[in-house]
Amino acid sequence: MRQVDRSSVGVPPSLDRDLSAEISKIREGGEASSKIYRHNDVLSRLRELYLDKCFLCEIFVGNKGVVEHFLPWHKNFPARAYQWENLNFSCKDCNDRKRKSPYRIPANLHQAATRTDLIDPSNPPFGCKVDELIHFNKHREAVSGERESLKSEVINTIKFLNDPMPLCYRNRRWDEFIEVVFQADCKKDWWAFRDMREINPADWEDKVFCEKMSALERGDAIYEMFLRERSPFYTCMKYVVFHVLRLSANDFKRMSEAYRKYKGFPFVSDK
Ligand SMILES: [Zn+2]
Repeated sequence: MRQVDRSSVGVPPSLDRDLSAEISKIREGGEASSKIYRHNDVLSRLRELYLDKCFLCEIFVGNKGVVEHFLPWHKNFPARAYQWENLNFSCKDCNDRKRKSPYRIPANLHQAATRTDLIDPSNPPFGCKVDELIHFNKHREAVSGERESLKSEVINTIKFLNDPMPLCYRNRRWDEFIEVVFQADCKKDWWAFRDMREINPADWEDKVFCEKMSALERGDAIYEMFLRERSPFYTCMKYVVFHVLRLSANDFKRMSEAYRKYKGFPFVSDK
């Protein structure tokens, strides 16, 4: 799970207008119109916001993603259907699982949901950043971060992210990463980066690492597949890399950013 800032993309025009007539229809027992909440401009802004990944598990979904309501709409809560802050981009699996107990409160689908007991990455609870609430251990399992670890949103998000399915995807991704790093014979360069960090964190040292990386036959491919924030499960990789390459989450992020700038790659590329 990665924190996002909704103001970076802005409210989609199809939601930024008077929708009171549409909301009244839901209040009177009608269905929410997917033509509105799933309008192209909503989809494209959500894809941009979440870098084409599921807002919860961070698997790449691209054009297979669904628009989901963090708090389910209901005739008693009709405005939720079209509230920009309530809409997210999700994989189908997460969308299905979050409707179940203990994530949906109450669990009874006939009753209006009063809460979703998960962290909303565009509005994390307790004034915290997502990074302060959720980390990953060397087994690719989500664990609580430094703060507020006993709150139910945090406990349930950890449980949600450690479901066998997303955990299996993260493990597979990690195995691929390690294989590529070893095949490309660049483990020693990563170690060198770590050592440079310990001596002096000046910019020119990032350049030395970037020069080494770019000289590798698979340097760009490694960046593209694993080092970009846009890469699937980047948040997990960022923490797990410590246990093998002894790079902190911040080092990993810095290395990724340094390489992107060095090569002049865009933050989000065209598909
Ligand atoms: Zn997902």
